[in-house]
Amino acid sequence: MIKRTTISAITAMFLLLSCEQVSDTPSEETPPDNGDPPSDTPVDDEPAPEPDDDDFLHDGEGRIFSYVPVGDLLPSSGPGHEDTTIYRPDITFPLEDAAFLNSQVYRYGGSQGTVNGMSGGQCHETNYDYPWQDTFCESRSRDQIMCPAGGHEGVDIRPGSCIPETDAIHWAVAAEDGRIIAPSSSQYTVKLQTSDGTLYRYMHLKMDALSVADGETVAKGQRIGMVSNDFFNGSGERVPTTYHLHFEMYQNYSPDEDTDPIFDQVNPYMTLVNAYERKLRGTE
Ligand SMILES: [Zn+2]
Repeated sequence: MIKRTTISAITAMFLLLSCEQVSDTPSEETPPDNGDPPSDTPVDDEPAPEPDDDDFLHDGEGRIFSYVPVGDLLPSSGPGHEDTTIYRPDITFPLEDAAFLNSQVYRYGGSQGTVNGMSGGQCHETNYDYPWQDTFCESRSRDQIMCPAGGHEGVDIRPGSCIPETDAIHWAVAAEDGRIIAPSSSQYTVKLQTSDGTLYRYMHLKMDALSVADGETVAKGQRIGMVSNDFFNGSGERVPTTYHLHFEMYQNYSPDEDTDPIFDQVNPYMTLVNAYERKLRGTE
């Protein structure tokens, strides 16, 4: 199932349901008495209107935004984590322009792309299109308390175009007002912490050309750096990844009611869906 984001989703849904009911169920209604003799010819129902294109949210390129539900990962890519919580309802989406959440590993250009029949380079057009798909808890050999066997602690966001093809600049921006901690223990991570403690981690920006410095205070929406493919191994050698922003969000949360709150990564997917919808509506 793919969720299409509509301006008037309930209205569109109602129209669709009405259409199905009309076409599936013979009408029992008596035509209004207008003085004419009863006709043997059945009265054709007016065809129910299709949802208008304008009912959906479009990005700057006119594409209709849609997303696969949270926790519903690509086949054979991990268990996912179904968490519908919008942890931060007021953030700015962390990229300035259009963006595509999907797997960097199990799609075109990824090391496991063949698992899903997606052999080819990272610039494949379907990598740069909707629907979005969640990648939190995608299979990784890393501990993450919400992922049963460990997994991907954030979500991966491709920029509006494939940089090796377009050479375009795509800016990552501050999701909220906060303070920059950069670079952190890894050479490819910029952190942003808000005054109430929420922590964001931005990875794989163009690290030698950041727009911010360690300790700098930034405003929501301010440019942090350019989306890139920077990644370094344990020896500090550059081992480029795909062009994307890996995005994490830390919150205090309790995994269950018997456990004290911990500060760890939560699934940011629905928070990002919410932010992107507001961005496309112009109500961000
Ligand atoms: Zn990632």
